[in-house]
Amino acid sequence: MSYEKYNKKVKNISNSIKENEKLITTNRKGHNYRDLKFKKNQTRIDTSNLTNILDVNDNFIDCESAVTIGKVNRSTISRKKIIPSLPEGDNFTVGGCLAGLGLGSSSYIHGFFNDNVIDFDVVLGNGEIIKNVSKTQNSDLYYGIAGTYGTMGIITRVKTKLISCEKYVKVNYLHYNSFESFYEDLKQRISDKNDDFIEAFANKKNDYTIVAANFVADVNPNDISIIKDKDILKQRHMCVYAQIAKKKKYSYLRLLDYLERYSYSAFWGHYLYTPYKTRDFVYAGLMYSLMSRNILDSSPGHGKYNISKYFHAANHIVGDYTRDEYVLATDIGVPLSKLKDAMNLADEMTETYPRWICPIIDNHHPDKIFCTRKTELCNDNIIFDMGIYGIKNTNIKSKKINQAFEKFSFKHGLFKGFFSTCYFTYEDFWNQFDKEKYESIRKKYHAQNNFMNIYDKINYRNKVKKNDLRSKLFTFFGKKYLKQINNNKDTLIR
Ligand SMILES: Cc1cc2nc3c(=O)[nH]c(=O)nc-3n(C[C@H](O)[C@H](O)[C@H](O)COP(=O)(O)OP(=O)(O)OC[C@H]3O[C@@H](n4cnc5c(N)ncnc54)[C@H](O)[C@@H]3O)c2cc1C
Repeated sequence: MSYEKYNKKVKNISNSIKENEKLITTNRKGHNYRDLKFKKNQTRIDTSNLTNILDVNDNFIDCESAVTIGKVNRSTISRKKIIPSLPEGDNFTVGGCLAGLGLGSSSYIHGFFNDNVIDFDVVLGNGEIIKNVSKTQNSDLYYGIAGTYGTMGIITRVKTKLISCEKYVKVNYLHYNSFESFYEDLKQRISDKNDDFIEAFANKKNDYTIVAANFVADVNPNDISIIKDKDILKQRHMCVYAQIAKKKKYSYLRLLDYLERYSYSAFWGHYLYTPYKTRDFVYAGLMYSLMSRNILDSSPGHGKYNISKYFHAANHIVGDYTRDEYVLATDIGVPLSKLKDAMNLADEMTETYPRWICPIIDNHHPDKIFCTRKTELCNDNIIFDMGIYGIKNTNIKSKKINQAFEKFSFKHGLFKGFFSTCYFTYEDFWNQFDKEKYESIRKKYHAQNNFMNIYDKINYRNKVKKNDLRSKLFTFFGKKYLKQINNNKDTLIR
């Protein structure tokens, strides 16, 4: 794919923006939990044809902005290279990970996805094309764009650095029955930096697992848990959470399968949405095996549609505030030293287990606006993304729960993930983030009158009440089903 064709596509986007008089947004549905009805009244810029890899070598990969992480991995791993900080969803795009937030189990060494971007191109709200935005060229935009959720411009190209890897990983599962022993080991492993990937799980009170994965060059094929994409009865081995439940000590995976370990189940999602005796075979096995590879996979030459397993389901339930009252999907920013407090708060508000605990190094830079900590409130440069994805086991309203999490994160100089349902007050939000800097960059780069303001875009919109058929069906069938799951909590994941 040539840069020439790419330049033509960018020119087309620029021309359509020049003629436009309304607010601008992308046409992506993406992965977030707010309602997207606002898009109907805005000019939707089609980024769906920006799906080509422009260049790849041992040092970097240069992609059009709608290239998926799955496609990136398939073109770099064969060279024994990966993007240093990869999010867990293989159908997230490089543009979405830069404009939104991207992090994963290698983030404790390599920071956020945006920390590893070399340069990018963006079409501004007046149609002007700015190329090669980098640490040294338009650096205010380079640092400022991360986490602005499409409110700065249309990103059309993202070049990211690559690091060396091997084609397999050994995944170690370290089990603990007290918070204290788990937390001490977790801190030690984070500071030792001997693992290539670290994440952890609170399975229930006094039941924790650290999952530490390391590259291995060669593995006996019989030891690899899953060896090909469509192996019907083996999909469940991809699910790290199934291994944790079985209290496994270790397993071997292809690196690609490790990186896509949640794509088959969006964390432990399929344990929540399918009856638990048949779920592994019907959902993770049969369903994917029967689907055409062309639909599921994003490999070059296949993967025309890249409908990515459970994350596909995840983006179908966006903006369903009814569902929020039964199932939570929210990520809280927690400083290293405050994990116990965050666990206590989550116990008090939700009693939801399991929880995902993903350490990230926060490479603070004064020009970052959203994707960093407030250093006067958070001394720790290691922070956690604590993900609460599961059934709400208390009667506390989802709004109250989310607000408690938002206040907790802000109080400690961090923030709750913007992709979840957000109830930030205007004061709290702009007390945490630098409004003046955000507005001055928006003014300078012609975003101010052309793209929605971030606070308005990500926050819960009172006027919208989701009450469509999907939502009604979910409430009708879902309530009873979730109750049944709740009653079987202890035996659920086996
Ligand atoms: C179930 C679930 C699990 C998740 N798990 C993780 C996880 O493990 N790790 C992680 O890092 N994140 C996770 N997320 C959050 C998700 O990664 C981020 O929201 C990410 O930005 C999604 O990428 P995307 O390409 O789908 O972006 P989108 O959702 O499409 O976009 C994110 C934002 O960026 C804007 N945007 C997208 N493309 C462009 C562009 N070309 N130019 C300008 N703006 C653009 C959009 O308008 C939107 O506001 C999860 C989300 C969900 C719903």
